[in-house]
Amino acid sequence: MRLSSDGGSMWMSRRFLITATVSASHSSFITSAVTILPSISFPCTIKPPRQLTLFPNSHVRSISNNSSPSPLLSITIPSGVGEKNGIPMKGSKVVLKGMRYPELENWVRSHGFRPAQALMLWKRLYGNNTWARHAEELEGLNKDFKRMLSEHAEFKALSVTDIYTASDGTKKILFTLEDGLVIETVVIPCQRGRNTVCVSSQVGCAMNCQFCYTGRMGLKRSLSAAEIVEQAVLARRLLSHEVGTITNVVFMGMGEPLHNFENVIKAGDILVDEQGLQFSPRKVTVSTSGLVPQLKRFLNESNCALAVSLNATTNEVRNWVMPINRKYNLEMLLGTLREELRLKHNYKVLFEYVMLAGVNDSIEDAKRLIDLVRGIPCKINLISFNPHQGSQFKPTKEEKMIEFRNVLAEAGCVVFLRLSRGDDQMAACGQLGKPGEIQAPLLRVPAKFQGALEALL
Ligand code: SF4
Repeated sequence: MRLSSDGGSMWMSRRFLITATVSASHSSFITSAVTILPSISFPCTIKPPRQLTLFPNSHVRSISNNSSPSPLLSITIPSGVGEKNGIPMKGSKVVLKGMRYPELENWVRSHGFRPAQALMLWKRLYGNNTWARHAEELEGLNKDFKRMLSEHAEFKALSVTDIYTASDGTKKILFTLEDGLVIETVVIPCQRGRNTVCVSSQVGCAMNCQFCYTGRMGLKRSLSAAEIVEQAVLARRLLSHEVGTITNVVFMGMGEPLHNFENVIKAGDILVDEQGLQFSPRKVTVSTSGLVPQLKRFLNESNCALAVSLNATTNEVRNWVMPINRKYNLEMLLGTLREELRLKHNYKVLFEYVMLAGVNDSIEDAKRLIDLVRGIPCKINLISFNPHQGSQFKPTKEEKMIEFRNVLAEAGCVVFLRLSRGDDQMAACGQLGKPGEIQAPLLRVPAKFQGALEALL
């Protein structure tokens, strides 16, 4: 919403000298991405437009997923990364940050070392302000153990390319992945000490929400658990001294987290491990556009918090601005939440509502929203839309947002306004990335909104 990788003068760049080679290859990737063409997946209810040809991608392996409850045509996994006996591998090495603690301990024992050494390694990877990225940084571990790790373990999943700083102190980190793709992670400092890192779960996104910059990219691939975890680890390693302790994680960067379900659940488990990174489960929030079967699983399998990006009060509008609604409509989505949260104690879902002028911001919308969330323990974030290149929407005026908020508050809703400041991009899922020349399609504007959008131009 607020961010884009070509965010222009708003961002001050701190390019990493040590990654000069990576940066050069990053530029060449951008060029090659245009010519190679990434694969783009679409929700199955939406046919790709005729003029958009889908090309096989040499960087990714696609897995047919027709029998899956997922509404999507395909999922992708990182190239060069595999599994052996359930352990994530890069080439012949295990990927340390792709393992939960019990898996790490088993692996350490399989190499003839004691569990106590596994715990010391875990603490140096994630705790004690070490955030080790090399065997040499493992102070206090025995020499044979370190030698074994150098031979058989991979510490890194990401390379830092750039850090940009916004005028209000928000930081955006660009990471280059093994296969040259680029993801973005945002760190939002807060004076009250509630510093937040907003992580990406995919490169691009298949959901094609019409107000989202990341959605324009289509989906290139999903991230591994290690690539997700390392965003939070590196945010702490690189920025804690500047912004203070990073206490919160939101999965609201690039991608639909629940479309990468297993890796997101695993990453969440690693983030909240009490001997490691120690994020409180209540402070790790996974945001979804509304993949209902996965959302149900999430509520049963994860302790982390859930946010749902709602953004409309009728199926007509939501079918347009969030095409996933054609598969899982408002009744299914909210009915599932109402049912599932009945069984959860002391748990509130966060509804995110990006306000689009003339589309979803009327007083009638506010009244419908009150009815829709009735009976669901929730908080509502009203988020100011920040236009981006090619966007057909305009932000709702501040006075109107306040009026909308007041209607909800008077009805007893817990509601917050997230006005357009540098820290607001974390309040909605994925407004990051850099769409190439081939982009996901903009959908037909329903006739009754055409006039409203044209009047705002
Ligand atoms: S808003 Fe989230 S789910 Fe929708 S396209 Fe953007 S990143 Fe994907």
